[in-house]
Amino acid sequence: MEAMSELILAIEDEEPVREAIAAALEASGYRVITACDGEEGLERLLAERPDLVVLDLMLPRIQGMEVCALIREHSEVPIVMLTGLAAEDDRVEGLTRGADDYITKPFRARELAARVRAVLKRSHHWSSDDRELLEVGDLVVKPAAREVLLCGEEVGLTPKEFELLEYLARNAGNVVGRERLLERVWGEDEYIDARTLDVHIRWLREKLEDEPSSPRRLLTVRGEGYMLTAE
Ligand code: CA
Repeated sequence: MEAMSELILAIEDEEPVREAIAAALEASGYRVITACDGEEGLERLLAERPDLVVLDLMLPRIQGMEVCALIREHSEVPIVMLTGLAAEDDRVEGLTRGADDYITKPFRARELAARVRAVLKRSHHWSSDDRELLEVGDLVVKPAAREVLLCGEEVGLTPKEFELLEYLARNAGNVVGRERLLERVWGEDEYIDARTLDVHIRWLREKLEDEPSSPRRLLTVRGEGYMLTAE
């Protein structure tokens, strides 16, 4: 199974802003595709089925709110709207109708990434349909059912253990850095000790490894992070 981080489509006409969006989201581990206007955005949406759309309100030709409505005719993909109208909250609310969240310009990279992550977390979208299976050797993760099977036997995990394993399974065969795991599983809002991650890894190993002290599935890559691999 290849690594599958979520795909984000950014529709923004101003090149520096478009690049800033892409850089912010790529730094958080997302794959990013971009479009300069609504037409190109709709084409890429239909062709590449992103997991989320970041949509600028101020676009040439078709305005962002119209693009938002057009997207909604085709898809329930989550939309985070970018607006420059910080002061006029009522207006922002009206203009962003149909969007899942909005963020005002200028935005900070971490803020954008946090919004995107939060919206993705609470939405069901194309790529997480009921049939999706993440297979890593004899380990099977079913994201929709939140089920884990090891050699066909169900493994009981806590919600955090599940999220951690799901993220590692989506990136199976690749090292995932500690920072990214902390950010993706616990988020920036929660205060946690970095050792919490190690503790959860240890619990996961106790449930998934024949010999938790010499793991063969959930590996530590010293100085880098963790990697889930087929045994
Ligand atoms: Ca713009």
